[in-house]
Amino acid sequence: MTHTDAVDVLNTIYGYDAFRGQQADIIDTVIKGNDALVLMPTGGGKSLCYQIPSLVRPGVGVVVSPLIALMQDQVDALRALNLNAQFINSTLDIDSIRAIEADLRQGLVDILYVAPERLLMPATLALLDALDIAVFAIDEAHCVSAWGHDFRPEYMGLSVLSDRYPDVPRMALTATADRRTREEIAKNLDLVSAQHFVSSFDRPNIRYLVGESQGGREDLWRFIKAFHPEDSGIVYCLSRKKVEDTAAWLEKKGRVALPYHARMSAQEREHNQNRFLREDNIIVVATIAFGMGIDKPDVRFVAHLNLPKSVEAYYQETGRAGRDGEPANAWMSYGLQDVITLRQMMQQSAADDQHKRVESHKLDAMLSLAEMTGCRRQWILDYFDEPGSAPCGNCDNCLTPPETYDATEAAQKAMSCVYRTGQRFGVNYLIDVLHGKSSDRIVQFGHDQLSTHGIGADISAADWRSVFRQLIALNFLSVDLEGHGSVKLTENARPVLRGETQLQFRRQLATVKPKRERSGRARTPVSIAAGDQPLWNALRALRKDLADEAGVPAYVVFTDATLADMVQKRPSSLEEMSMVSGVGDHKLERYGLEFMAVVNEFEAEIDDA
Ligand code: ADP
Ligand code: ZN
Repeated sequence: MTHTDAVDVLNTIYGYDAFRGQQADIIDTVIKGNDALVLMPTGGGKSLCYQIPSLVRPGVGVVVSPLIALMQDQVDALRALNLNAQFINSTLDIDSIRAIEADLRQGLVDILYVAPERLLMPATLALLDALDIAVFAIDEAHCVSAWGHDFRPEYMGLSVLSDRYPDVPRMALTATADRRTREEIAKNLDLVSAQHFVSSFDRPNIRYLVGESQGGREDLWRFIKAFHPEDSGIVYCLSRKKVEDTAAWLEKKGRVALPYHARMSAQEREHNQNRFLREDNIIVVATIAFGMGIDKPDVRFVAHLNLPKSVEAYYQETGRAGRDGEPANAWMSYGLQDVITLRQMMQQSAADDQHKRVESHKLDAMLSLAEMTGCRRQWILDYFDEPGSAPCGNCDNCLTPPETYDATEAAQKAMSCVYRTGQRFGVNYLIDVLHGKSSDRIVQFGHDQLSTHGIGADISAADWRSVFRQLIALNFLSVDLEGHGSVKLTENARPVLRGETQLQFRRQLATVKPKRERSGRARTPVSIAAGDQPLWNALRALRKDLADEAGVPAYVVFTDATLADMVQKRPSSLEEMSMVSGVGDHKLERYGLEFMAVVNEFEAEIDDA
């Protein structure tokens, strides 16, 4: 019985045909009054899991979220569905809060967002005591775990909810939780009897592309120009300076590119983040500080100009792409220098030994991911304890299997050159010796007399750098502590030098070139055929106008997924328009005719032709 109510809400309010994955089970569990712990990847559709029980059960749904800055957008998205959504936080003045309280007491509010510290204030709890509450949803629930990466002490207080409101179902939701974090969530939020719903961490719509950097940002520009000429995206760099330079450079290329880093003022950062959220073609160039809780569903690409420090960071950052389930690209370019810098940073870090060991393991894993020749998704899922998936067909290695070669001999030459020059020199010097150059320095050290002088003349400098990069990445060579970048042999080097271990390396790639799809898919990764591009652009333009008028982000009007479905279905009546995914009753009424008019215009043009 409750289930049909839930499906009805899904169809009429949200305009979606069917639940995804475990949504139906989760919603059913909570509607029946039981607790739930929900682990779902970003973009999996967590919001519906608490919104629909909030609507189907009597009373208001209370959503606890740490991200005050994003509450406005969340509420706007629900209001666009004609729901009564509110938030109470410190940005509101006392009169607005009074008005919301009055609405709550009259039972007019469907969904209420509050931050944990606000919820736990005696006045708020007293208010809640007087209300019918449909469900408590604790979003970003990993914040309650000290083991996780984003502990917030105020989350600990939320365990009072189970004592104070024993009859109200509670749910905890998060996209990031390993087994240990999950146990802590259950314990600290007193959710011991909650049913656990653990979805796969896979993000099948994200295409992973990793390559060696040749031209640095020129590579980036080629990628953006070819695949995302008008899309929103995030570019991550390691340093503030690189952020600023890259943003300015992309601006010169004609894109709106906004910097975001820790040294900017809070206002500037907020301003840039808001533009990114609201407009649909902005690139943010950021240090890793950017993105926590970014709810923008239509980020079409995430690019890394530097190697992240861990697979966890890489997966979280790339995970900000494609929350709407439409195709998105995760592009990364890295080179020898990244490997050297990160190895050095790790060694110089002030952390204690145990911590350092953990960090260095994490970096090793990241480097293995970067250098590997098999399916990257399979490897990532395995890393996150989901073994046994099949090759994905949607990563660079699956799409264009990398050429490998037997690098044993080259490695031996490189390593014996390291050894014979006394393990005191950097890669560039070593390559000069391998090439048989006789610079003053080489002669002065007598290295022109070594047996390794000139033994690598047949291999280009770029190829030697690739060999050294892989040797350092895979821990056959280490980089000097003092920061001069001189390399030394590690324990692993010996069996290779003795000829006991064979090495298969990947051939140097020119650049990362995501190939065009043979199916004639157009440049934007959302599946729009080339011939449909004009209609797609016109629909996006209308969406932007309507969003600007209402002062909301573009996706609040319609998501990319909805516009793509519109292009596909080309509705010519309101009835047909209502079949488009994401067009519920209210949006049909509010926007249906205007979007239909644009579709009709293009139909007419085709007829004329
Ligand atoms: P999460 O919070 O897990 O990152 P969201 O709740 O923001 O994910 O959902 C991601 C996107 O998928 C949103 O645009 C949402 O409207 C859409 N979505 C969720 N469930 C469905 C569904 N059953 N059918 C179609 N689209 C859905
Ligand atoms: Zn793959």
